[in-house]
Amino acid sequence: MLSSDIKYLTGVGPKRAEILFKELGISTFEDLLYTFPRRYIDRTKFYQVNELTPDLPYIQLRGKIVRFQEISYGKRKKRYIAYFSDGTGIVELVFFEGLKWIQEKLKAGVEYIVFGEPVSFNGKINLVHPEVDEPQTDGQPLLSALQGVYGSTKVLKTNGLGQRAFLRLQTNLANAVLDKITETLPDYLVRHCKLMPLRDALFNIHFPQSAERLQQAQYRLKFEELFYLQLGLLRVRNKRKETSRGFVFNTVGEHFNDCFRRLPFTLTNAQKRVIKEIRKDMSTGRQMNRLLQGDVGSGKTLVALLCALIASDNGYQSCIMAPTEILAQQHFESIQGFLRDSAVNVGLLTGSTKRKERTALHKQLLDGSLHLLIGTHALIEDAVQFKNLGFVVIDEQHRFGVEQRARLWSKNEQPPHVLVMTATPIPRTLAMTLYGDLEVSVIDELPPGRQPVKTIHFNDSKRLRVFGFMKEQIKAGRQIYVVYPLIKESEKMDYKNLEDGYESISRAFPLPEYVTAIVHGQMPAENKNFEMQRFVKGEAHIMVATSVIEVGVNVPNATVMIIESAERFGLSQLHQLRGRVGRGAEQSYCILMTGQKLSTETRKRMQLMVSTNDGFKIAEADLQQRGPGDLEGTQQSGIAFHLRITNLAEDGRLLEFTRNLAEKILGKDPHLSNEHNERLCTRLKQLHNQDKDYSVIS
Ligand code: ADP
Ligand code: MG
Repeated sequence: MLSSDIKYLTGVGPKRAEILFKELGISTFEDLLYTFPRRYIDRTKFYQVNELTPDLPYIQLRGKIVRFQEISYGKRKKRYIAYFSDGTGIVELVFFEGLKWIQEKLKAGVEYIVFGEPVSFNGKINLVHPEVDEPQTDGQPLLSALQGVYGSTKVLKTNGLGQRAFLRLQTNLANAVLDKITETLPDYLVRHCKLMPLRDALFNIHFPQSAERLQQAQYRLKFEELFYLQLGLLRVRNKRKETSRGFVFNTVGEHFNDCFRRLPFTLTNAQKRVIKEIRKDMSTGRQMNRLLQGDVGSGKTLVALLCALIASDNGYQSCIMAPTEILAQQHFESIQGFLRDSAVNVGLLTGSTKRKERTALHKQLLDGSLHLLIGTHALIEDAVQFKNLGFVVIDEQHRFGVEQRARLWSKNEQPPHVLVMTATPIPRTLAMTLYGDLEVSVIDELPPGRQPVKTIHFNDSKRLRVFGFMKEQIKAGRQIYVVYPLIKESEKMDYKNLEDGYESISRAFPLPEYVTAIVHGQMPAENKNFEMQRFVKGEAHIMVATSVIEVGVNVPNATVMIIESAERFGLSQLHQLRGRVGRGAEQSYCILMTGQKLSTETRKRMQLMVSTNDGFKIAEADLQQRGPGDLEGTQQSGIAFHLRITNLAEDGRLLEFTRNLAEKILGKDPHLSNEHNERLCTRLKQLHNQDKDYSVIS
């Protein structure tokens, strides 16, 4: 029944079924049942026109239309306005589509209930395409004082699937399936956690019988969602722990000690702690799968190197995989710097490594004389075979998918230890979910002596002042990044912005006094590398670039980061870019350039950047602002998931609670084979089958 095609539901049919699928991904009865209201309105409450403000959510009014007006605009476009009065004032109901039908339906002087969301237009308050009904007309939806408001789209609204119609579908669905819903959580859990039974919860989430019942329903459904997610993730993790034996590295030998002794600085406490955590993992006899989080510049590369040296002290090879060629090159150089005069043999393999060199590398890998290989995606290729790969580092992880990770593991009969490093700090709740199958280490401390970057927000009118400041910095011997946004859909225009920017900078900073380099994604790798190297070597003063430099480059002498059209970047991205400066001893600056007119949200974003350098704070705020939905890397967790009711930004505590609970249950019954856990087993299987479908849809 629940898996029935949605077109068979009363009131749907093939055409609407298609629309429901396209707009909301609904293809079965169950999909609709689990499409929950976004919010609720109190249908017993009516607002007055003179109380309306544009920041109100959906509201209801009761009154009459006093007159109509049709306004033509543009080419053959029309707007139809109904002036609606309740005696306290007049508000405009505005319609752009389906005018013929609306003109026939709406009459002046009849009492209506209007339902819509106030918006402000030309200083007046409008309701655009509101729902207009006579009080108590046709087949009312199931009665409840609190009425659900579902997510909607223009296509839905103009195809007769507005709020009212949607509610009617939910009513039909509830009538058809509710009494067939069976409990999905074991009785002992329902009792112990004082949860509302599933059937009641599904009813009350759509048709709340009271505010209290609604709250219980929400809690129950969030609980279920998070609990099963964590149970699934922990099962994946446990299964791997059980089945994957890992190499035991219990020696710390010459390679490690040599390098350690010769470091030009001491490790930070955070670096020491993380290395200890990793060493411990590597000695348990199980395969390590660890995520290393650390803000930009916190010294992750060195941690990776030291751990690779432990591997080689135990007779195993390592590799470090970076997302771009420039980065791989940089890792290679800085690692060679740390290993000067040491017996450790390091190689670099990227897409542009010459045939001859490549062959030589392949040979050294196979005979074991190469200890550490650094490279890009090129490492994954089948031709790359190791003698005994024992430790794999994946840098800037979100650029690699789970599948690519898996291909590296399979380079060995017994999987190597894996360390995944990311400079995108992830709030704890999110880490538990996105990377719920990994162990997590955090470097929460920057090397000493770094001055925090000063961040300033300017609008475009201050450009001359900024140029002046740039000249001062260059005179003092510093280098400068100027970054332009590049977003796929509008690539052409962005590209033009970049070129214009480059030209105006070249004019303001002419040769031979000033040298400006440029790097963007459409350049051949060779030119990109050449330009990048000019900047790295200090031959160019200014680097004009798109966000390709976002990831990892290290030029300690660069002290100014100018971000153009900063309003077009997300918080995390801004923070990443800022992390390119402040790497040396000099005071560094990040200048956010934006237009003058900014939305409140954008203004907040800029203010946050100005007020803090703390990557975790920024990540938390980013999660709050954007919601977790469109975060990169939702496919990283090892199992796909799709949250329908939980908001990871808000439900962190429940997430932790359910994780602990799942952990406890699996601790007592690792394979969920006890009779009283039967439902857990069944439901997990069901959910897993569905996961595949989600990935097809999205
Ligand atoms: P991340 O990859 O975490 O962004 P890096 O590994 O590139 O950071 O390190 C940034 C810079 O800090 C490098 O130049 C590195 O040599 C230096 N560094 C690393 N650890 C320390 C330390 N404990 N003390 C001083 N400098 C350090
Ligand atoms: Mg790095």
